[in-house]
Amino acid sequence: MIPITTFSGLDVAVFGLGASGNATALALMDGRARVSAWDDNPASRESAEKEGIPLVDLFREDWARFAALILAPGVPLTHPEPHWTVQKAEAAGVDVIGDIELFCRERATVCPEAPFIAITGTNGKSTTTALIAHILKEAGRDVQLGGNIGRAVLTLEPLTPERVYVVECSSFQIDLAPTINPSVGVLLNVTPDHLDRHGTIENYARVKERLVAGADQAVVVIDDDWTRAIAHRHASEDKIVLTASTLGPADITASGTTVFFQGKPVADLAGVASLRGRHNGENACAAYGALRLAGLRDDEIIPHMLTYPGLAHRMEQIGHLATTLFINDSKATNAESTEKALATWSGGIHIILGGKAKDGGIDILRPYFPRIAKAYLIGAATDMFAATLGTEVQHEACGTMEVAVTQATQDAIASGARESVVLLSPACASYDQYKNFEERGDHFRRIVAEEIARRTPA
Ligand code: ADP
Repeated sequence: MIPITTFSGLDVAVFGLGASGNATALALMDGRARVSAWDDNPASRESAEKEGIPLVDLFREDWARFAALILAPGVPLTHPEPHWTVQKAEAAGVDVIGDIELFCRERATVCPEAPFIAITGTNGKSTTTALIAHILKEAGRDVQLGGNIGRAVLTLEPLTPERVYVVECSSFQIDLAPTINPSVGVLLNVTPDHLDRHGTIENYARVKERLVAGADQAVVVIDDDWTRAIAHRHASEDKIVLTASTLGPADITASGTTVFFQGKPVADLAGVASLRGRHNGENACAAYGALRLAGLRDDEIIPHMLTYPGLAHRMEQIGHLATTLFINDSKATNAESTEKALATWSGGIHIILGGKAKDGGIDILRPYFPRIAKAYLIGAATDMFAATLGTEVQHEACGTMEVAVTQATQDAIASGARESVVLLSPACASYDQYKNFEERGDHFRRIVAEEIARRTPA
C-alpha cells in the first residue's frame, strides 16, 4: 500500500466503496487522514466496515469540514448529472478528486523522482500498459502495474526513486486527477466512447489531453484527428513528444510487422502471436516510445517485446488443431474491436458473434464479410445479426457457446483450408448470458479445450 500523507490530520470524504474506494480509504487512514466513507449500496458499506473503514452518512453531514471528496471513478462527476456527493462538495467548496490524483500528489511530495508511466486512449490501454510493464520487468526493473488494470493504484508498493509505476488511466480517472503529471504520458487514440459520462467528444478528448499536457515527456499515436491535434499542441522545446503511427510518417512507425524508430527498423513482430494486427502495431509503437523516453536501450526493449505473453481475452491464442487456430477475443464487446480481429486474417474465419448488441450492431463489419467463412450466432443479438449478414455471409443460429464451438470446429477442420481460425470476437456485451466478458471467455476456453482433447487421438 502507498500511504497517503498529503491529507494527514485532515477530514476527507470517500465515496464509492468498491475495491479502489476501500484501498483509497485505507491508504488515507495509513497516512493519518480522518476518513468519512460512504456508499449508496449497503453491501459495499458492510464490506468496507469489515476492513475497519469508518462509515459516515455523507448525505447528512456538514461538508464544510472536509478537505476533499475522493470519488470512485465509476460515479458520475459531470454527466448525465453530478452525483449528489459532487453537488454537496461543490456547494461547500470542497475539491473532488480520485485515487490517481492522490497518487500524483503523494509522488510529487515524497518521491518526485519515481518514474511514472501513465497510459490512456479509447482502445489498447490494457495491452500497452501490460506490454510496457512486461518489458520493464524482463529488463530487470522494479515495476509496479495498476490503475485501471489489475490492482488499484494505491494498493501498489510504496514509492521509491527506482520503482517504476506503470499506470493505466481511464478517462474517468483522469477527469478526477487535475494535477496528473507522469514522467512519461502515453495517448493511444480518441474515438467516441463514454459520451454519456463526458457529454461531448470535445470534452472527452479534452480529458484525455490532460495526461499529455501534464506529462514531462509523452508518446502520442497520431492516427486520428483528435490525437494529431493534441500532439501538435504539446510538442515544445522543454517537452519531448514522440509521435507514432501505423498510417503515415511519425517518429515511431509500424508497417506490416516491422517497427521503425526514426526510419530505422528496430523490431520485427512477425510470429509474436500476442501482438497480431495493425492495432497491436500501434500499441507496440507506443510502448517502444514510452520505454525509450523512460531511458531504456533497444537491447533492453526489443528482445522482451518479442516474449510478451499477451492478456487473457484479447486476441488470446488458446489452442490449435492441425491448421486451425482458436482465438479468444471475448473482450471485443463492440463492433470496432471485432473489426480489429477480422482485419488480422485474410480469410478462413469461423467467427462466433452475439450477446447483447450495441447500437449499430455489426454494420461496420461489412467490408470484412468476404473474410468470414461462416458466422455462429449466440445470445440476444442472433436475429439482428442474422439480418445484417443476410445472404452475404453463411451463418447459423447456435444459441449457446457449446453448440457454436462444436459447429465452428467441425466446419473449420472440414474446410481443409491452409489456415483457418475459430474466433470468439462477439461484438457484443456479455450480460445476456454471462456475468462479464471474462466469464464468457473462460467458458469458451473450457469448451475449446474439451473439443481439442476430444479430437486429438490419445
Ligand atoms: P482497453 O484497455 O483500452 O479497453 P485493450 O488493450 O484491453 O484496451 O484491448 C481491447 C480491445 O480493443 C482489443 O480486443 C482490440 O480489439 C482493441 N484494440 C486493442 N488495441 C487497440 C488499438 N491500439 N486501437 C484500436 N483498437 C484496439
